[in-house]
Amino acid sequence: MTVSIRSFTKRRPGIVFIVSAPSGAGKTTLTRQVLEVHPEMSLSVSCTTRTPRSGETQGEDYHFVSERAFRRMLDAGEFAEWAEVHGSLYGTPRRMLERQLRKGRDVLLDIDVQGARQIKQHVRNAVAIFVLPPSLKELRRRLAARGTDARKTIEQRWLRARHEIREIQGYDYFIVNRDVDDAVARLAAIIAAERVKVCRFIQKRKPA
Ligand code: 5GP
Repeated sequence: MTVSIRSFTKRRPGIVFIVSAPSGAGKTTLTRQVLEVHPEMSLSVSCTTRTPRSGETQGEDYHFVSERAFRRMLDAGEFAEWAEVHGSLYGTPRRMLERQLRKGRDVLLDIDVQGARQIKQHVRNAVAIFVLPPSLKELRRRLAARGTDARKTIEQRWLRARHEIREIQGYDYFIVNRDVDDAVARLAAIIAAERVKVCRFIQKRKPA
């Protein structure tokens, strides 16, 4: 096979970057800020059956849909992955994802561990990144400090977080979110490095 410089300068298909974290690890801030460093990336907007929180915008934060509509889309195969999280349904619209990847745009998926597993199974070369809190103690403190959740909800999220952290084994990278700027820089560096992997441009020769 011929290897030319052109092989590395031509457009390649987009890359899927999955970012998962237990709630309270600061993932939302992280993903928003990394898009300021890499504005050429797209953030996938999921569909969800949960009710909007104050300040959330339809079509921007999520596509808020009824359970009936969600199930209809699910039956029609419209989700690239989906999962039930904290009693609500969430799914990544397949058509939008495929369109962006075809255009050569890299896409960031802010999804839970169940969804990440599905994407890793079906999307070749998807990159999965897990965001960790500095400690379980700090995670608990952050969950309680939000002040928006009832005690029972905090307890549920805490138990779920401990379960989710075990899923880190299926991920490619981790980022400890001690300091937001540092975590954003690490995430941006992972994205930049993954984009220049030789195997994304040519099939590598097997070692003799
Ligand atoms: P929240 O309701 O707090 O925005 O999100 C709750 C959890 O659902 C987060 O862990 C978030 O990453 C996850 N999530 C959001 N959208 C999707 C999705 O489309 N698929 C899956 N599997 N998880 C999602």
